[in-house]
Amino acid sequence: MNLPETIEQLLCQLEQAGFAAYAVGGCVRDAALGLQPHDYDLCTSARPEEIQTVFSSMPMFLTGVKHGTVSLVTTLGVVEVTTFRTEGGYEDNRHPDWVQFLPEITGDLARRDFTINAMAYSPSRGFQDPFGGRADLEHGILRAVGQPEARFQEDALRILRGARFAARFRLTPEPATFQAMVKLRGLLDQLALERVFCELDGFLRSARVEDLLRFAPLVTQVIPELAPAIHFDQRSPHHALDLYRHIAHVTAALPATPALRWAGLLHDVGKPAAFTLDENGRGHFYGHAQIGADLAEKILRRLHAPNVLRERVVWLIGHHMSLLEPDEPKLRKQLSRWGEETVWELLDLEEADFGGKGTGNSQEGERFQQIRQMLVQIQQEHPVMKREQMAIRGGDLLAMGCPPGPMLGRILQTLLDQVLEGRLPNCRQPLLDAAARLISQDESCLATLDKNRRCLGRTME
Ligand code: ATP
Ligand code: MG
Repeated sequence: MNLPETIEQLLCQLEQAGFAAYAVGGCVRDAALGLQPHDYDLCTSARPEEIQTVFSSMPMFLTGVKHGTVSLVTTLGVVEVTTFRTEGGYEDNRHPDWVQFLPEITGDLARRDFTINAMAYSPSRGFQDPFGGRADLEHGILRAVGQPEARFQEDALRILRGARFAARFRLTPEPATFQAMVKLRGLLDQLALERVFCELDGFLRSARVEDLLRFAPLVTQVIPELAPAIHFDQRSPHHALDLYRHIAHVTAALPATPALRWAGLLHDVGKPAAFTLDENGRGHFYGHAQIGADLAEKILRRLHAPNVLRERVVWLIGHHMSLLEPDEPKLRKQLSRWGEETVWELLDLEEADFGGKGTGNSQEGERFQQIRQMLVQIQQEHPVMKREQMAIRGGDLLAMGCPPGPMLGRILQTLLDQVLEGRLPNCRQPLLDAAARLISQDESCLATLDKNRRCLGRTME
């Protein structure tokens, strides 16, 4: 296993001072998979104060020192160096009530969550893999270290971490680990919701259909609003799959951006509440996009999702039935109004939604292809114009007697739409003429103009 020179040097410094030291956890797992680790953690027999002495010439943080961690600032970023330790007494299913420093590594590896995360390596001491993490990685197995139920009872976050690692590394949980994850899912209710959000977000980013189906009991534990979707028969000729399966297919088909993955997961959360049956026994879901957007708002607020993400997801869900069309003027207007990124995201969501019906309608595929080509063409020809780029401004309309407020915005938008549709050039005089016509047609605008004129008349008298 290759370690960066900085890491080898840190290990070497600890060894030269007479301590055992290893790279440990995620970085060893990633390297074993041939992936580039995003950070490095070290563990050592040195006590925190001894670690500080060995690295006294380096900048460091001591915030974790109570738990044995000294954080060194290196050219590779922060490297955490932690004394071998064990821990216990998880009163709150999360924080250990005590930690105890150990002289050797096996006990330290035993406190870790999964076998794939319980490996260590040092150039001078080789691999330490007492729980068979490498073999599990090779066979694609997620396995808790030790007795799964006990380990999840100690810290319930491990249940969600397990789902995230399974999705990310394409692992299947071995039966005892999986059964314990599902059986103890109720413990997830005790976790801080922002931690739940982070784990679920990580899970969603790499989840395949099988992960979303397998871990449905965990997903619905955290998002009970999705529970009615499970086995929900949509009673529709357009849908071959039950609602949760449809959701799983849509989510997994989407690009792995947080907004799209969350939008996929929650896009139809409003369907059960909107469900009606017609006289032919067919299911309908009128208004489900808006009901879903409202529910998604509530769910994402509860989970403390970042505001920007929440707003994007709620918007996408609210618009996912708006159905983009291969109609160039219309697309120009939508690009201008919603922004490029949003239109592309909506297109991705709508296409995944159609693809996830399980009825294999190829005509729809062609329609999306056409829209994609049209969008690329529009963007290549000339960038879509925004309101700020128009040859007239709000001030021009005010000078013509248009009152400030929503009407002014409405008239500017109409003018922009006409420019985008190619019905007006983006030149000052034609726009002013068209504005004058619109003002004279707008009844509430006329009423204000009349009032202004009457006031003017009175002052002249
Ligand atoms: P990632 O690539 O997502 O950072 P990671 O495995 O490095 O994955 P971290 O949260 O950085 O995950 O934790 C580092 C190591 O600490 C893990 O590999 C694991 O050995 C141990 N660990 C972290 N969280 C827990 C936990 N809740 N219970 C037991 N061990 C844990
Ligand atoms: Mg890590």
